[in-house]
Amino acid sequence: MPITLFVVVPCYNEEEVLSETTKRLTELFSELANRNIISNDSRIVYVDDGSADRTWSLIEEFGKKDCRVRGIKLAHNAGHQNALMAGMMSTMDCYDCVVTIDADLQDDVNAITQMLEKYSEGCDVVYGVRSKRATDTAFKRVTAQSFYKIMKMMGVDVVYDHADYRLMSRRAVEALSKYPERNLFLRGMVPTLGFKTDKVYYERSERFAGESKYPLKKMLSFAFDGITSFTVKPIKAVTTIGVIACLIAVVMGIFAIVRQISGQTVSGWASLMCSVWFIGGLQLLGLGLIGEYIGKIFKEVKRRPLYIIEKDTQK
Ligand code: UDP
Ligand code: MG
Repeated sequence: MPITLFVVVPCYNEEEVLSETTKRLTELFSELANRNIISNDSRIVYVDDGSADRTWSLIEEFGKKDCRVRGIKLAHNAGHQNALMAGMMSTMDCYDCVVTIDADLQDDVNAITQMLEKYSEGCDVVYGVRSKRATDTAFKRVTAQSFYKIMKMMGVDVVYDHADYRLMSRRAVEALSKYPERNLFLRGMVPTLGFKTDKVYYERSERFAGESKYPLKKMLSFAFDGITSFTVKPIKAVTTIGVIACLIAVVMGIFAIVRQISGQTVSGWASLMCSVWFIGGLQLLGLGLIGEYIGKIFKEVKRRPLYIIEKDTQK
């Protein structure tokens, strides 16, 4: 049985790359359809994320010429992650599996073939992982690598060197749709779903045309969002620092008493030293304690599902 594949492509001011993207994707679709791997119901879904240029008119034009191209226009610029969600969720009833890929052709479209092979072998999520970062600037490489390291350190389970190029089966998307959170960080959310997963390696090339829509400011806020919407470790760090400060207060206390007895102090020094450390430590502990409760509230308000059923022998 051929697979019905949807390829979701978020586009924000991508008029320069769209015709090439369409060409490469439709060629791939024709090849896969000829080999009877994908069905004729498969679609390329462009999600126009409130572009200000000719992106939408191009999408409409391609859609008229080729019924395999479908366009979804968002009413305003909702951001990359939200655009991905819009594409995956609004077409969920129509596909067996969905691949998300950037419009700029940095990700090799041919990796989709391997992703489909893994899907046929029973994988529900297949991550596209870049094998090299040769085409990135040194700056982008260093910032990206530190990003993955910090995320790991903070306890967020992200796949190293995987952006948002991935295949998901319909049931994986259905499971994801049960995550009603507002701050999306798909790279962190998808690994928490579980299911059988695998990776496909590809070489990442340079942007085909146009400029990156992720300037440094957006990149930093994305990284910060990733951390703060996934982990309460920073709050826990405050508690730890508070405990350490209290311990130092005890050491300082002993030290001050010793100095006092041996008469080596100016009057008032010992009491001042002890209070500074002790009060400081107490304040941090208090903040950490409040933070723990806020952390609980944070997890609660996300209303994530308690479990996801993978199989049922009577269904
Ligand atoms: N994008 C989007 N909305 C935005 C910013 C970006 O839909 O607000 C899309 C963009 O059109 C592209 C993808 O997200 O298809 C990735 O953006 P880009 O290639 O500029 O990021 P980079 O590869 O430089 O990190
Ligand atoms: Mg890009």
